[in-house]
Amino acid sequence: MLVIITFFLCHWFLSLFFHSFFLHRFASHQMYTTSKNWERTFYFTTWLVQGSSYLVPRAYGVMHRMHHVYSDTEKDPHSPHFFKDVYQMMHHTIVIFRGFLTGKDLPEAQFTQEYLPVWDKLDKLGHHVATRIFFGLLYTAFYFYFAPNYWWFLLLPIHFLMGPIQGAVVNWCGHKYGYSNYDNGDHSKNTTPFGVILMGELFQNNHHFAKDDANFAKKWYEFDMTYQVMKGLHFIGIIKLKPLIIPIAQ
Ligand SMILES: [Zn+2]
Ligand SMILES: [Zn+2]
Repeated sequence: MLVIITFFLCHWFLSLFFHSFFLHRFASHQMYTTSKNWERTFYFTTWLVQGSSYLVPRAYGVMHRMHHVYSDTEKDPHSPHFFKDVYQMMHHTIVIFRGFLTGKDLPEAQFTQEYLPVWDKLDKLGHHVATRIFFGLLYTAFYFYFAPNYWWFLLLPIHFLMGPIQGAVVNWCGHKYGYSNYDNGDHSKNTTPFGVILMGELFQNNHHFAKDDANFAKKWYEFDMTYQVMKGLHFIGIIKLKPLIIPIAQ
């Protein structure tokens, strides 16, 4: 049982960390710079830990930039205020994500002007259905081997869909439930205490106020775990956090 719980927590937090650290704070917002080798290392690790639910960075980055510009309007790819339930919101998100990936839909120029990390070979491999199934079989084999009984298999769908589930929680709760520190003209909220479990990603109200600020925590009781790791990586020279201009609070 301990092995399964450890596996689940490792998968949850590693997937979430690289989702936040690489897809969100680098691919979408360029909050830090790093060498090409480190960028490739983070890129590869993001694929490895997201596995069956790998989110291709360039499509994620474009979609997330749209989310900031059109936050909680009809052009927002995933505002909870335009959908009956989280499933419909995620279905709409996936359609837009796929549209960008296949080239069926072209993003507005404003969303591709800033740097977007691209690694075509890895994206083709990671996005391929056979690769996704392979990862799913690996998770299942692990449960077959270590789970004390079949009830634990109920956790498997979370492993299969880890990336989108974390995105759904952040986008649904972070724009619906919680408190606001700033008036951003949208519905972004800080959803504590889950901000800790989601490694800072649920401080949406703070993040929409200052989208280039790597630290999503603003009050003494808020804690952004991903930012703490980033400070460590900055300190040892692996990444370089960008200096930023903080907007004036209203
Ligand atoms: Zn948001
Ligand atoms: Zn963002």
